Amino acid sequence: MKYISTRDAKRVVSGAQAIVEGIAPDGGLYVPESFPALKAEDWKKLLEMDYTERAAYVLSMYLDEFTYEELLGYAKDAYGRFYGEDPCPLVKVDDRQYVLELWHGPTCAFKDMALTMLPHLLTASKRKLRDEGRTLILTATSGDTGKAAMEGFRDVEGTGIIVFYPSDGVSDMQRRQMITQEGDNVCVCAIRGNFDDAQSAVKRIFTSKQAAEKLAEYGWKLSSANSINWGRLAPQIAYYISSYCDLVNAEEIEDGDKVDFVVPTGNFGDILAAYYAMRMGTPIGRLICASNSNRVLTDFFETGVYDTHRKFVETMSPSMDIIISSNLERLIFEYSGRNDKLTAARMDELKSKGKYSVTEEELKNMRGVFGMGCCDEEGTRCAIKYYFDEYGYLMDPHTAVAADVYKNAAEEEDKPCVVVSTANPYKFPSDVLEAVSGKREDDPYKAAKILCELTAAEIPEPLNDLDKKQVRFTQVIDKSEIDKFVLDRASRA
Ligand SMILES: *Cc1c(COP(=O)(O)O)cnc(C)c1O
Repeated sequence: MKYISTRDAKRVVSGAQAIVEGIAPDGGLYVPESFPALKAEDWKKLLEMDYTERAAYVLSMYLDEFTYEELLGYAKDAYGRFYGEDPCPLVKVDDRQYVLELWHGPTCAFKDMALTMLPHLLTASKRKLRDEGRTLILTATSGDTGKAAMEGFRDVEGTGIIVFYPSDGVSDMQRRQMITQEGDNVCVCAIRGNFDDAQSAVKRIFTSKQAAEKLAEYGWKLSSANSINWGRLAPQIAYYISSYCDLVNAEEIEDGDKVDFVVPTGNFGDILAAYYAMRMGTPIGRLICASNSNRVLTDFFETGVYDTHRKFVETMSPSMDIIISSNLERLIFEYSGRNDKLTAARMDELKSKGKYSVTEEELKNMRGVFGMGCCDEEGTRCAIKYYFDEYGYLMDPHTAVAADVYKNAAEEEDKPCVVVSTANPYKFPSDVLEAVSGKREDDPYKAAKILCELTAAEIPEPLNDLDKKQVRFTQVIDKSEIDKFVLDRASRA
């Protein structure tokens, strides 16, 4: 299997190269040259496998430089670090509605599904390419990605990771998770300011020739753990296929019946993986893209115009507070008939004018598969309360956005539906408590305790002992000091 860039189809690379490069030199994203098809004999095998085997099987269809056994080893290590028996259990809520819990990993958010695999895929890809340099991962985070990336890369040979977060832009629980991070090759530092300040400072280092030269002297090459990397997207395809197998095995559906998925969406990575699973032959009916008050994708699927000229809204589902959904480029590429020139022109327009549009024909075709909906803060709170009162199911604000969109779409849809759940509710205990009880407690540990007494929902292991863990990183710097910080750290490691 080869990979091509969405902006230049003549740029052809191997899977290992796509993973090591992350992004194509023309600024495009790597996509598989074609989608491998799941045949009857594949399904027969998949139905009998456990999650790690299914993950390795699906990955081996895309990454043919790796053997199934190699990939199985990585999957066993990655998903062996999850708590509970099943890395991504499917919970039945009512007759036709299921919740796919993707947050049983070390940081209690769905990013773990991919970020526990990426370090294995990246280091093995480097070995295959005989690239012996060390890789320094730099990430700016608004909370979930940074923690999951550090957890994934901790103590991985030949890698180091530095995470920057905005000093006043993450929740207490998220900060606590980061500053207590263990591992000899990890480091996290707060930047005075908001997420944009942290993000732009990191971007500046990535484009600084001076920094690259200095880092090369110390034996480092920069890379990112961003969700546009194929090594992050590929592991996500597996859980859509696996949850379909689980539904068949539990006799909830007949093999071949179509299932809908509702996905809480930010950067468009998670739902794109569902689309890829469909293209491989998974019987999927509709893919419903759920947004919070930052409804740029809802508007796009309604009008065919992607318009970034809008106010950024801070919500209680911060991992979906996104105006530019980078992975949408891969979908635009598919629906344009894989037209690389057109995709490049649209992305140029996005950069220069802040907006672009697709044709009516393309929009019609997309709407044949994709549904859309959005949910504001009040709707999010109501959905958390409704699912708890009605079904005894406690969900986090991101999942609640999807659940609310499903509730509104359910009358028109007659197929079984899976609501994709992306974070454990105890990651956002104050907001969830307020939604369920009407009472506010801003101290996250106190809020978690009250929530646990009230709902009897279990606090997950990785969050439970957080207040007892040793604080390792307390540094706060100005964004102008970030270059010095990185070079200093790189020279010592
Ligand atoms: C990252 C994230 C999302 C959004 O996923 P995308 O792949 O960016 O669309 C949703 N919920 C949670 C909890 C997340 O961390």
